[in-house]
Amino acid sequence: KEGNLISLLKAAVKKVEITAANKDQHLNCLFNEEERIPVDMDKDRIEQVILNVISNAIKYTTEGGRIDIDALKMDKSAVITVTDNGMGIPEAELSRVFERFFRVDKARSRAMGGTGLGLAISKQIVEGHQGTIELESRENKGTKVIITLPLSLKKGISNIE
Ligand code: ATP
Ligand code: MG
Repeated sequence: KEGNLISLLKAAVKKVEITAANKDQHLNCLFNEEERIPVDMDKDRIEQVILNVISNAIKYTTEGGRIDIDALKMDKSAVITVTDNGMGIPEAELSRVFERFFRVDKARSRAMGGTGLGLAISKQIVEGHQGTIELESRENKGTKVIITLPLSLKKGISNIE
């Protein structure tokens, strides 16, 4: 099941554009919209990952914030980055964000809604595609999420086939 990652990103951005606009945020698409990045994937699930990550960037960034979305085709993989200039994550908590139900600063995040499952599920989906998902973050500066997906899956060890 091969799909074009660029088409998928464009569709995902369309779905959350209004949410961002309501916070006076612009989603900067840095990728080449004309390019084709063919990736072996379950499109619905990868879209779920992209939506999770962009929704986090919107949710944890204040009004007027900036969110960059990029995608590059490497030799054997695709790299997607979502970068925001929002509240960031304290270094001490960064290693825990992929845990189920973990949310930074319970009081603050309760007001923002959510369950703390988005990143745990995203990681499971990305790893099911033999890829990786990483977060770089600095408190009060912003967060960058880096997702790497192989263009073609190794047979036999994927759980999406
Ligand atoms: P859900 O996604 O289930 O609705 P959630 O957004 O709280 O809830 P995750 O997406 O798993 O859960 O994220 C876990 C926690 O990591 C968040 O509660 C938040 O504290 C922190 N986090 C995630 N993305 C960002 C970001 N872009 N900027 C700052 N903090 C973030
Ligand atoms: Mg989330």
